[in-house]
Amino acid sequence: DVEVPESHPRYESLLTRHRIEEGVEKGITSKQGLIAQGRGEAFDYLLGERTIPSAREAERVAAAYLLLAEHPVLSVNGNVAALCPGEMVELAEASGAALEVNLFNRTPERMQAIVDHLREHGAEEVLGLTADGRIPNLDHERAKVDREGIGTADVVLVPLEDGDRAEALAAMGKTELVVDLNPMSRSARSATVPIVDNIVRAVPNVTESVRELRDASRQELEAIVEAFDREAALAAAERAIREGGEE
Ligand code: ATP
Ligand code: MG
Repeated sequence: DVEVPESHPRYESLLTRHRIEEGVEKGITSKQGLIAQGRGEAFDYLLGERTIPSAREAERVAAAYLLLAEHPVLSVNGNVAALCPGEMVELAEASGAALEVNLFNRTPERMQAIVDHLREHGAEEVLGLTADGRIPNLDHERAKVDREGIGTADVVLVPLEDGDRAEALAAMGKTELVVDLNPMSRSARSATVPIVDNIVRAVPNVTESVRELRDASRQELEAIVEAFDREAALAAAERAIREGGEE
């Protein structure tokens, strides 16, 4: 086991990395997931390993979309399951959204391992195993979704989604809330709400906003959603990366 001293300046980042290693050992996270983590860490480092103000705003907008949704779904892949399973379950409960396992490299073993892992963290129902729906214009394995989940969802939170699938979901007309540390990735660029933040910080923030906004009227929620400027959010994240510090 890796012991990270709390005094280490990059304590959180090292802990997060360790959770991904454990995810690989448990068969939850794929080897490609390790590479995705490395990419994410690089962007997080450039952002100062903090939630920039524009991301916090996007997290609040995402909360408003979840509360306005008729059929919201939270997508969980191997990295998300390893990094913040309990936090995803909490967000699902707070927002009334369904949880669906959705893998880029789909294998029955990994699907089941993630479903079990989420259940161990308190999830009741976890979708994804039925796979009776398809996302148009993707090859067979990557197109699979549950019809009663992402298939018919109006709002989908997709953390760390691959660019092709993020674009295909957007083309289906879904409102996509994307958590991705790279503001230049196709996933972030195809999102209705790009959240440029680490998933481990983003999910608890969205949950906090859901709780704050729970009693807001539809009108108030709609005003929050309408005031959001996705291009400005992406530009602010790029600026934070280039210029560091402020934003
Ligand atoms: P795209 O195909 O969307 O243009 P990509 O090929 O770089 O981008 P992938 O490698 O498929 O994307 O997915 C990894 C993405 O997830 C990266 O953009 C990375 O920054 C992001 N990522 C990795 N770890 C985290 C994390 N913990 N929190 C948020 N985002 C993360
Ligand atoms: Mg990608």
